[in-house]
Amino acid sequence: MSRISVLGLGAMGSALAATLIRKGHEVTIWNRTLSRTEPLAAIGATVAASPAEAVAASELAIVCVLDYAAARAVLAPAGDALRGRDVVNLTNGTPDDAKNLAAWVEAKGARYLDGGIMAIPPMIGEAGALILYSGSGALLEKHKAALGALATCRLLGEDPALAALYDLALLSAMYGLFSGFLHAGALVASSGGKVADFLSLLLPWLEAMNGTLPDLAEKIDSGLHSRNVVSNLAMQTIALENIVRASQERHISPDFIEPMRQLAAARVDRGHGGDDISGVVELIRKQK
Ligand code: NDP
Repeated sequence: MSRISVLGLGAMGSALAATLIRKGHEVTIWNRTLSRTEPLAAIGATVAASPAEAVAASELAIVCVLDYAAARAVLAPAGDALRGRDVVNLTNGTPDDAKNLAAWVEAKGARYLDGGIMAIPPMIGEAGALILYSGSGALLEKHKAALGALATCRLLGEDPALAALYDLALLSAMYGLFSGFLHAGALVASSGGKVADFLSLLLPWLEAMNGTLPDLAEKIDSGLHSRNVVSNLAMQTIALENIVRASQERHISPDFIEPMRQLAAARVDRGHGGDDISGVVELIRKQK
């Protein structure tokens, strides 16, 4: 069992610290608002008076605050205490945020590992929680007992930006799902239907559509969107237009759906109506 400091005790930082305490680690905590330390102090955490004191207390410092500006605000006053320490940052941010913070932390003489938490606080320490890591694989190995107590650990590579990139990619898919679900719910409710009842149709439908993702993934990877097409884009664009028109008929804003309809229509206009829907990605992705 090791000594670990946790800086940032919001919903997620508190779950991380509580889990480490429960698993027998010696945990030092710091939070900008002192009152949030109380429940953890009551179960055995040591409260540090400053970020520097928290970083100095343990070889490993886990940072989990709102954003990277906050992470910098927390780590900057730790100053010289960072030298020789291991910093694992589990704050959500962009790949560039991660790359820049890694360089800043390493310039202070500390080692850095970036992480993206793919779980909500009650899942921490339970089966099903996943944390994506990128940066020093040696650091992950060294602290595997502690980090593995929080969630399954998945190292994506040595580039510190990768965890943030894949975290945001997974969240992108999640928000696409949520936006489609919210629009579907508004349509169903417009006829007096219960969204809860609609789930018996929606969930198997989504499962069936998940089955199409491997084929679409292959098309995105290869850039070849016209092979084995069973649902061509011209046909799907009509379906998207019908969703927009049905929404307008029912005084529902098409705001969730309209961007997808516009992209699909633009791709058809450029002569790709016979391709698969995967081809729409060509309108948004970085030009090679
Ligand atoms: P909360 O809003 O519950 O807590 C935010 C934390 O950040 C608090 O400790 C807060 O301190 C601290 N903070 C904010 N600004 C500053 C600052 N300028 N200086 C110092 N501390 C600051 O957020 P969560 O704990 O839920 O989220 C923390 C991170 O975990 C985020 O990056 C989030 O994206 C990620 N995450 C959260 C998930 C969730 O479901 N909750 C899921 C997966 C990832 P104070 O108490 O003083 O306000």
